[in-house]
Amino acid sequence: MLRSLLGGLAAAAVLALAPAHAAAPQIKTQAPGWYRMVLGDFEITALSDGTTNLPMDQLLHGRPQETRKRFDHARLPLPVESSFNGYLINTGSKLVLVDTGAAGNFGPTLGKLLANLRAAGYQPEQVDEVYITHLHVDHVGGLVADGQRAFPNAVVRVDKADADYWLSTANMEKAPKDMKGFFQAAMASLKPYVDAGKFQPFEGPTDLVPGVKAVPLHGHTPGHNGFLVSSQGEQMLVWGDTMHAAAVQMPDPGVTILFDTDPKAAAPQRRKVMAEAARQGTWIAGAHLSFPGLGRLRPAGKGYEWQPINYSSLTVAPAAAAPAGK
Ligand SMILES: [Zn+2]
Repeated sequence: MLRSLLGGLAAAAVLALAPAHAAAPQIKTQAPGWYRMVLGDFEITALSDGTTNLPMDQLLHGRPQETRKRFDHARLPLPVESSFNGYLINTGSKLVLVDTGAAGNFGPTLGKLLANLRAAGYQPEQVDEVYITHLHVDHVGGLVADGQRAFPNAVVRVDKADADYWLSTANMEKAPKDMKGFFQAAMASLKPYVDAGKFQPFEGPTDLVPGVKAVPLHGHTPGHNGFLVSSQGEQMLVWGDTMHAAAVQMPDPGVTILFDTDPKAAAPQRRKVMAEAARQGTWIAGAHLSFPGLGRLRPAGKGYEWQPINYSSLTVAPAAAAPAGK
């Protein structure tokens, strides 16, 4: 017995000393981009459309030196690898998708939302409603796949103010050359739904399906909206492009970005939303917050601290969300 045990140990020692035949090749791909959380009776699935590098020090308004210092503090090299996220809400009776990603309009590292929706266990045919925070191509591009409606059974809803602005040929003609593509992409993405009678703009704060409400957050674009999701006393605000660069705009919510149609409106809007969300302990789901872009805010200095969601395997019942500060 002892002899065979010793023999085994000796063999193991020889194996440990033997050189590896070949280095294992590195795989160099990421896991499928989806993350699930529970909100009251609802199931929320964050869906990654991918990431792309953005020269945030050039895109953010204000003092580039101060901006670079903030990124340095966050240990984020420039250009910053930035997330593009959509959110799937299963209320139990309706399947709602907020934002659809860029599809093929923004380079090869984006356009993965549809594949990640499938990887998360859903089919695009199951989606009942698609809500678009605003008609920028990285949110609306994924409405179309191979020239067809990517969500064939869904109604698409967007604030009328954004539809009026981005679907107007007169506005496109007036726009600077480098902005015309935004108009064209919005028009092309919505056309199949308009033709099928599946496009329904809304105006002002609107109850869309039970538990999901449109909240106007105009500024980033003329009809930019968030969607407030409520179930069993828990709340989540899917806030679209209220923020693009957390490392800078969390501590300093006054900083705006080149993509803001009306920066003067976008900054106070962001401050107001953040103050309210921090006070009420509302979950935030952010299109450009590092994937899965889910977390909460706590006041810190002149701005806020981002408290990202704690990883959950969902095999234990999640505790009720505690309001910040309690
Ligand atoms: Zn965006």
